[in-house]
Amino acid sequence: MNAAKRRAIFERLRAANPHPTTELDYATPFELLVAVVLSAQATDRSVNLATRKLYRVARTPQGMAKLGVDGLAPYISSIGLWRGKAKNVVALSQLLIERHGGEVPADRDALQALPGVGRKTANVVLNTAFGQPTIAVDTHIFRVANRTGLAPGRNVEEVEQRLEKFVPDEFRQDCHHWLILHGRYVCTARAPKCATCVIVDLCEYRHKNLPAPVAPPRAPGRGRREATPATSPAAKSGTAKIAIARSGTVKSAPAKRAPAKRAPKGR
Ligand code: SF4
Repeated sequence: MNAAKRRAIFERLRAANPHPTTELDYATPFELLVAVVLSAQATDRSVNLATRKLYRVARTPQGMAKLGVDGLAPYISSIGLWRGKAKNVVALSQLLIERHGGEVPADRDALQALPGVGRKTANVVLNTAFGQPTIAVDTHIFRVANRTGLAPGRNVEEVEQRLEKFVPDEFRQDCHHWLILHGRYVCTARAPKCATCVIVDLCEYRHKNLPAPVAPPRAPGRGRREATPATSPAAKSGTAKIAIARSGTVKSAPAKRAPAKRAPKGR
């Protein structure tokens, strides 16, 4: 895909959603960090339902550490992989108190040193809480980047590197949210909504989910010849044949002419 097309894609996504943001509910960097850790292999909706109650009783590293794994468990037990996540949230809260004065650091290495925080989570926190132009690649962004041809790659690291390289600066800050929302609601894994997609003419996916084109009506007396009717003299004489062309279209072969009858002489 060329640079002009990439720019056009982001211009369209921006026009459709000028201020994209995360669908996770949060009020502070710590709440966002916990929500992103909880969201691994879970929906934002299920995380929001859990954190709505959790943040009423614990919304700081101190509060979360005090709650402990057993105290946290009832709030997040509806979320997949909750046991491991509960341990990580309590452990990262303790580390934030010990190493960072209870604050979430705006630094990739420091974030990735926390339990349960990988590159993707660090990228989301840096981008959304601290306004850094990082691009976290999740399953949705991986799919959209590959399908469209925007930044194809064999794994999330490759896609992230190519997005970093190819996305123009002015779109870098919101790129993550535009692509994730596009993948979540339009360019879905099964049955992408290509017919209503705002970048359908720019996307290079070869298997777009579009209705089959309807053939234009033919003007009477023009176009392909009809097969010779079975009642015609040629058909009766057995000379009409149907040939199937390579393209799969059916064509009528020219019928052999029956020899013309001569009128008897002398009449
Ligand atoms: S046209 Fe289809 S495949 Fe391409 S980005 Fe849009 S929804 Fe995805």
